[in-house]
Amino acid sequence: MPRVPVMADPMPPLFHELLGDGYEVLPWDLQPGSASLERAVGIITYSHPKVDGALLDRMPNLKVVSNHGVGVDHINVPDAEARKIPVGNTPGCLDAATADLTMALILATARNVVVGDRYARSPEFTHYDPSILIGHEVSGTTLGIIGLGRIGRQVARRALAFDMRVLYFNRTRNEDAEQDLNVTYVPFDDLLGQSDFIALNCPLTRETTGLISGPQFALMKKSAILVNMARGPVVDHAALYDALKSGQIAGAGIDVTDPEPLPRDHPLLSLGNLVITPHLGSASDRTRRRMMEMTIENLNAGVTGQPLSWQVRSPK
Ligand code: NAP
Repeated sequence: MPRVPVMADPMPPLFHELLGDGYEVLPWDLQPGSASLERAVGIITYSHPKVDGALLDRMPNLKVVSNHGVGVDHINVPDAEARKIPVGNTPGCLDAATADLTMALILATARNVVVGDRYARSPEFTHYDPSILIGHEVSGTTLGIIGLGRIGRQVARRALAFDMRVLYFNRTRNEDAEQDLNVTYVPFDDLLGQSDFIALNCPLTRETTGLISGPQFALMKKSAILVNMARGPVVDHAALYDALKSGQIAGAGIDVTDPEPLPRDHPLLSLGNLVITPHLGSASDRTRRRMMEMTIENLNAGVTGQPLSWQVRSPK
């Protein structure tokens, strides 16, 4: 049986193992005359390479784009739809893992976990001193979630277990979520002003690009901590730097940046009140395996002309 050629950026051995012998994995090669572009029937976007109409037009045999992950801001979905190429993603399976890391960044930033770790390893730590590294209490405070979708709801559940009051803002008020969870809808500016912690769990879209910038930081409490689990460009990084450096807000925990990674000499990396992780939201063993399985299920459907189990559709 001939194996189905798919173009993929570098993937770990487990992904190749799960794909099995039915596929021939071609390198991510965009050079003129690339055999990958010529032959591939499917694309797997593992570490989120950019896919747009110009690329799709160079792939005469393409039937499907299967993304490993839920966010598809690196894929031009309308371009794919215009060419009748379905785009798949992996929603739902990563909600718990991503919400866990949102809480981890809230706790790590508020309670000096990273600074404390460095200090505890250093020669300076010679005796217990109750006056150092006094952080901000998390329990009993107010969390504002921007983007109360699949992941945001899981963040809310965790925050409620920490006795937090949970506010949220979506473009559309979600009364079902309000019934299921003890969460309160507030206008965007009110959420910024009332929250002790602000979690970004929305997608990156034209509307959310630069959603948090200078004027938004100005509305936040000086004790506020911002956590970005969405995508880097949702936060204006120059404004974030100014807000953290000047004490406009107390701290930030960011899992995503723009660009990703930041240049090694980026000013944000010099700040002690920033905790940063390298895009680890869904990075747990169980979740990553399920994401691979869902990516392959979408791929299998696309290459055989079946409807995808999880298909992304651009808003009408
Ligand atoms: P989802 O279920 O579609 O939820 C997204 C939520 O954002 C919805 O409630 C939506 O409500 C809201 N939203 C959309 N545009 C908005 C806007 N302009 N202002 C305020 N709220 C807005 O998506 P999900 O599965 O939870 O994933 C959300 C995002 O998380 C992904 O797109 C991805 O970028 C990011 N993510 C990051 C990681 C990581 O590793 N850091 C992992 C997984 C996902 P309305 O439509 O009513 O506004």
